[in-house]
Amino acid sequence: MNLQGTTISDAASRDWDVAVVGAGPAGGVAALEAAAAGRSVLLIEKKVFPRYKVCGCCLNRRVIENLREIGLGDMLITAGATPIERFVVRHGSKAASIEMDGGVSLSRSRFDAGLVLAAIQRGVTFISQTTATLGDVDSEFRSLNITAKGEKSTIRARVVIAADGLGGRLLSEHESEWISENSLIGAGAQLPDGACDVPDRTIVMAMGKSGYIGLVRVEDKAINLAAALHPNTVKNSGGLALAVQDILSECDLALQTDIDSQIWKGTSPLTRRSAHLGCERVFVVGDAAGYIEPFTGQGISWAIESARRIQPFITETVTKDWRSTLIPRWEQTYTRAISKHQRLCRQLSWGIRSPFLMQSGIRVINVFPTIAAPFTRRLGW
Ligand SMILES: Cc1cc2nc3c(=O)[nH]c(=O)nc-3n(C[C@H](O)[C@H](O)[C@H](O)COP(=O)(O)OP(=O)(O)OC[C@H]3O[C@@H](n4cnc5c(N)ncnc54)[C@H](O)[C@@H]3O)c2cc1C
Repeated sequence: MNLQGTTISDAASRDWDVAVVGAGPAGGVAALEAAAAGRSVLLIEKKVFPRYKVCGCCLNRRVIENLREIGLGDMLITAGATPIERFVVRHGSKAASIEMDGGVSLSRSRFDAGLVLAAIQRGVTFISQTTATLGDVDSEFRSLNITAKGEKSTIRARVVIAADGLGGRLLSEHESEWISENSLIGAGAQLPDGACDVPDRTIVMAMGKSGYIGLVRVEDKAINLAAALHPNTVKNSGGLALAVQDILSECDLALQTDIDSQIWKGTSPLTRRSAHLGCERVFVVGDAAGYIEPFTGQGISWAIESARRIQPFITETVTKDWRSTLIPRWEQTYTRAISKHQRLCRQLSWGIRSPFLMQSGIRVINVFPTIAAPFTRRLGW
């Protein structure tokens, strides 16, 4: 799959209606929808695509519904997604199992590349290995400075969508960001089949004293491992892999592979929120707007929802004069559509820190296996 896209000089040779920075789910869907509405769209990504991304790789029902609504109903099957039927939570030697219905697992390299490919097919111009920083604004355009392999240029767009993910820096010179002092950091690796005891079609969640780990099989039976870890534990254990190993052994799980031969990636602190969701001719979507924690597996659905709900704001900015009221209006829309769903995730993330609540929860689920159903439904699973 060639996802290299255009060159920096081609990208700079014309003006764009929309420039989207970041080709994760938020950027991919924002670009695709804007192009489908007839806008000229440049999608800018700093990494080589397809690329690995630290993520649990579990897509809930809301993601699938959103994809269907934007005409990508077949995309997940074509990409090799696997249905998820069970969620097994382990805490120490105790475990509980919850039936699941409707979600799938798929590696982020396949999923994000599939979205970019669909965006290109709808008319989006893609440019990879190119980093964007925010430039000046005038009465018609916002400029972006773009750099690829030492080559620099400037492009202009009527509206810029900042979809640059967790800890994205596009707006950092213009807007402050709140980061929780108790925040965990993310970590992940893709492991070979047999590296850990993970049944097919099952999410295994290992809950430890200093973080938690999600394991799931993705296409080709590879095991995707994603973790949320206390940063001090990572330091004290001697690195991401050893911190992960400690939590797995707390839950009677073991890695049957040489951990040093795997590629481990970490993230910046997870629990954060942008002070404002934009500035003149720029709107923020996806993780760049704010994130809580991965426990509930909702980040991708929030990213896609925000990418869809930004579309009327794109239309208004492209077709009319800029008005400063657009940013508070976007913040209001975002709060109504997404922040309220993040509340339950915040409460659960607090609850799972308590060994007492974890042990009680496991006991209750084992006695009343269907008790979790209303919660999983509210979380989009
Ligand atoms: C450990 C962990 C497990 C998770 N598990 C799940 C899960 O199972 N299910 C779920 O739904 N969510 C999960 N999430 C959350 C999910 O990964 C995110 O919510 C989702 O990736 C957000 O999408 P996004 O498009 O906003 O950002 P991203 O996917 O991070 O994409 C941002 C893109 O922008 C690019 N970029 C950044 N800066 C620039 C720049 N200046 N110029 C050009 N490109 C740039 C990056 O390279 C990246 O490709 C998990 C997160 C973590 C940390």
